[in-house]
Amino acid sequence: MIDLQEVHLSAVIDAVRANQRFLCISHVAPDGDAVGSLLGMGEILTMLGKEATLALADGVPDNLTFLPGAERVVSADGVGDVYDCIIVLDASSPDRMGNVYREDAHGKSPLVVIDHHVTNTYFGDVDWVEPRCAAVCQMLVYLAQRLGVSLRGNLAEDLLTGLVTDTLCFRTSNTTADVLGAATVLMENGAQLSAITARTLNNKPFRSLKLWGEVLPGARLAERVLWVTVAPEQLAAAQATAGDLELSSVLSAVAEADISATFIQKTDERKAPVVECSFRAKPGFNVSDTAFALGGGGHPAAAGCTVPGTLEKAVPPIVAQLQQARAQQATGQ
Ligand code: AMP
Ligand code: MN
Ligand code: MN
Repeated sequence: MIDLQEVHLSAVIDAVRANQRFLCISHVAPDGDAVGSLLGMGEILTMLGKEATLALADGVPDNLTFLPGAERVVSADGVGDVYDCIIVLDASSPDRMGNVYREDAHGKSPLVVIDHHVTNTYFGDVDWVEPRCAAVCQMLVYLAQRLGVSLRGNLAEDLLTGLVTDTLCFRTSNTTADVLGAATVLMENGAQLSAITARTLNNKPFRSLKLWGEVLPGARLAERVLWVTVAPEQLAAAQATAGDLELSSVLSAVAEADISATFIQKTDERKAPVVECSFRAKPGFNVSDTAFALGGGGHPAAAGCTVPGTLEKAVPPIVAQLQQARAQQATGQ
């Protein structure tokens, strides 16, 4: 059984027991672990007789609205000012909370961070960070067990969803026996693995394929780093949005590459050009250091960042950094 950060887990349990009104937040551009852990935390708090507001800056993505409790999630305008305690899930740094967290209103409440990113910046009053857990949803299995909350029903389904999406259905290199143990507990409590896989990983819209058709002719491979860039015109041609790309598991399955990357041209709130970068590494290689150095974060095998600039200017130096990191890691093996 995994060695948990007991002191920090106990501090989370104390904060849950001691408070009544909670604001729970997960990260911008939420994935299955963000939504699953947010809804799971909501279930845990509700079962303990607590009040919880569940907030996501970007709302619940369409493919996750099937999850029990998804209708409870509010965006910034549904977030109040006064809470006893704020719990942040699956976010490695404060900027990942987006506009649902307001320092002026919420800065006085104790902040509890529950996360599994190795790049976590420990920005809470309590920080329970378990980089050996494959998903925050795995951590919530242990939290529910410690709190004596039943996993049966909605909670099991929410938590298995995050485990399935963060491990690409138990295929990533961080899928340990403990991960499978947590998943087994959730299935024993009624979660349906095949239904969750069908609704998350095996549920891409046709426009994703059209977008792949637009961008894959531009795929480049050099020094065992593979990368793809996505311009706004290509999104428009496929009638797709950046969220439809979902190309990382395709790229990371290419035999000739150890590291892969996607770069999407976007603009920030001030309409300045930014590039959203998503990195993947094969076992034995690490992209979290590069992402962290560029102001982002993530895990050794999957990380990302957003940098200022255009594809033309921003991508070549980042590719060079990835190639350099890969070469160092290959010789260090
Ligand atoms: P993605 O490539 O978007 O699937 O993200 C892979 C991993 O990197 C996830 O664990 C994300 O939480 C993390 N990540 C992606 N973008 C950022 C960012 N801008 N800042 C911090 N972490 C990020
Ligand atoms: Mn996440
Ligand atoms: Mn996660």
